[in-house]
Amino acid sequence: DSVANQIAAGEVVQRPASVVKELMENSIDAGATKVQVILKNAGKGFIQIIDDGKGMSPRDSRMAFERHATSKISCAQDLFNIRTMGFRGEALASIASVAEVELRTRREEDELGTYLFVADSELKNQESISCPRGTNMLVKNLFYTIPARRKFLKSDNTELRNITTEFLRVALATPEVAFTLANNGNEIYNLPASGLRQRIVNAFGKAINSKLLSVNCETGIVTINGFICVPQHARKTYGEQYFFVNDRFMKHNFFHKALTEAYAGLISADMIPSYFLYFTVDPSIIDVNIHPTKTEIKFQDESAIFQIILASVKEALGKFNVIPTI
Ligand code: ADP
Ligand code: MG
Repeated sequence: DSVANQIAAGEVVQRPASVVKELMENSIDAGATKVQVILKNAGKGFIQIIDDGKGMSPRDSRMAFERHATSKISCAQDLFNIRTMGFRGEALASIASVAEVELRTRREEDELGTYLFVADSELKNQESISCPRGTNMLVKNLFYTIPARRKFLKSDNTELRNITTEFLRVALATPEVAFTLANNGNEIYNLPASGLRQRIVNAFGKAINSKLLSVNCETGIVTINGFICVPQHARKTYGEQYFFVNDRFMKHNFFHKALTEAYAGLISADMIPSYFLYFTVDPSIIDVNIHPTKTEIKFQDESAIFQIILASVKEALGKFNVIPTI
């Protein structure tokens, strides 16, 4: 079983950033209003995530490390109506097969919380402890079971950049939740709970505030909200391109093309527009299950949505197109 877990881990846990992403998403799913991400040596030392979410019972905290032990899906139908971030029940089992995990967790209704130490897919120790409500996950010695893999980790700077990327994706998906990120005692981000515009400003700096143009569009198949940046803000490098679907970050090359097409004539071909676009759709028209890390999402009618993006971005840019009514 520990081998099966390690194989699954190869898909889910590629680097410290994958651990950060999975744990942050679990905190969001647990209803946290505040999530702290604390790193030592860009996660190579340790990764600690502290949330004030609903916590776990002693039994559930043990269960959480079992493979496919998700509390979020109970029947096949649920797979088509995914609202939570996690649903495969693989992350914690995978992480515990390639790292040492210390868990401290307590639910509101329990007087005492639970401490667990899990390593090599095995529960090594369990105790009752007093701790704040919520969950505190400490992941140490990542890939100590697979030295070859540990050797493949990049420099602290590179790993930290990957972590920052994942951190911002989750933080931009849920501006109503407060997040902090610190490495070796240095605070990198401190994002208080806010609205979307303020979250973007806190994440990317005050200068972006006056560059944001709002996008709002509602059709029968998709609602799009968010911001694009004025053409003058376009850059030659990627970094501020964000699509979210039902509060989940997604990559979408085809929809990205809708943006480049909308900006055509306003920016030169080697420049990339900045955007923060939030799609709300009926979960039954998307398939988020095509990749274990869940950043690629397939839609039922992508060309119709392409046209809607194109028209609504053009409108925001002042090109005033008519948004197709579908
Ligand atoms: P998934 O998120 O796909 O369900 P995970 O392996 O990430 O699978 O987590 C397994 C289970 O552990 C979750 O379904 C949830 O019940 C519980 N869990 C994990 N992290 C937390 C947390 N921060 N707070 C409360 N429960 C959690
Ligand atoms: Mg999860």
